[in-house]
Amino acid sequence: MFASLSDRITGSFKQLRGKGRLSEADVDGTIREIRRALLEADVALPVVRQFTSAVREKAITALQSQALNPAQQVIKIVNDELIEILGGDTRELNFASHPPTVIMLAGLQGAGKTTLAGKLGKWLKERDNKVLLIASDLQRPNAVNQLQIVGGQAGVDVWAPEPGNGIGDPVRVAREGVDHARANHYNIVIVDTAGRLGIDEEMMAQARDIRDAVKPNETLFVLDAMIGQDAVQTSIAFRDGVGFTGVVLSKLDGDARGGAALSVRGVTGVPVLFASTGEKLDDFERFHADRMASRILDMGDILTLIEQAQKAYDEKEAEDLAEKMAGGTFTLNDFLSQLQQIKKMGSMKKMLGMMPGMGQFRNELENFDEREIDRVEAIIRSMTPRERTDPKILNGSRRLRIANGSGTTVQEVNALMDRFEKAKTLMQHMSRGGGAPGMGSLPG
Ligand code: GDP
Repeated sequence: MFASLSDRITGSFKQLRGKGRLSEADVDGTIREIRRALLEADVALPVVRQFTSAVREKAITALQSQALNPAQQVIKIVNDELIEILGGDTRELNFASHPPTVIMLAGLQGAGKTTLAGKLGKWLKERDNKVLLIASDLQRPNAVNQLQIVGGQAGVDVWAPEPGNGIGDPVRVAREGVDHARANHYNIVIVDTAGRLGIDEEMMAQARDIRDAVKPNETLFVLDAMIGQDAVQTSIAFRDGVGFTGVVLSKLDGDARGGAALSVRGVTGVPVLFASTGEKLDDFERFHADRMASRILDMGDILTLIEQAQKAYDEKEAEDLAEKMAGGTFTLNDFLSQLQQIKKMGSMKKMLGMMPGMGQFRNELENFDEREIDRVEAIIRSMTPRERTDPKILNGSRRLRIANGSGTTVQEVNALMDRFEKAKTLMQHMSRGGGAPGMGSLPG
């Protein structure tokens, strides 16, 4: 996502760097380049215009004030304006003062509504809500069944029409679902509605009828980020036809050029609340304009990375680990449990992609083989307990046995041991450098 946009924009900054003073012509050159990059990424023209004129005005003012490091200033201005068009601060979901809170999903068929119902249901359940999903998509033959499956995966209940009773009437299903939720103390319901392949009046009318029947506190418009320039027209049709209070961008993991993400807020005035980044239920996050801007400018998304890590680690474990690292008692067993934590955090490729400056390694990242972790795991598992705690005893014949046992080669075993020893020295060094407070009193 955003790969070529990101390359183009960061490329346009290169001509500014290293110049002590910038002229208006320098700034205009950069802005022209950014404008081209945005248009090629399918960002809507009015949004591009607004963006470039705001950046130009602020950049020229900055030049006139003879500020230090003007190139940095321009980059900061571009970053601030990107955050602005992406929607500024993230707002929270609106909850009803009298539960249940009703969240209705709208969008074209295939946008990712049903998947989102499961993702959002799970996310809300993890935040101590009692969630009910309502299957009001009776258009697509398999939609009810699909919602039941994602509901099961998310561990939340699903309200679906009884066969032969009310089938074909999505408004009635929605109304009865909300009544059921109220009677059974669910505090959140998520109503999945039908979409069509294109915008059509009948679908809009049905969505309006459901809306009027359940009076949602939030209507979330689910927008497939891969649909490019059609995103603008589709968003406007839904805004005028049904109305929505928040946007969810789906398929942000794909290689879309990013135009939808950058345009939808500017065109509709409605903020993006969530981002969907894959087919699995955990591929879902709050949308943060500032973090997205950082990713586009290749400044990394450290905050999201830290959040993912916090989800996978418990605090006690992290403390134990820090202690072992500092004391030099970190063993291959600890390393093995580290690898398992990393796997819990999800794809290694995705995580590396959030590190600052990774843009230049995009090809290497693309070729990163997730199975490398499995190979390392296999090697460690082929070692005896003693070998794991005292790798010094690993002579040639032991290494050959381990390679055979793990389906790898002696070279791979050697390379792993090499890296492990180096990492261990480095960790010890770093913690001795007085990194985290409180570490100084640790033994070692
Ligand atoms: P609906 O018709 O709007 O309910 O769309 P679905 O939820 O059935 O999603 C359509 C297809 O897109 C399914 O194959 C989903 O697995 C897939 N999908 C949904 N969200 C995402 C996402 O964020 N990333 C990717 N890669 N696929 C997604």
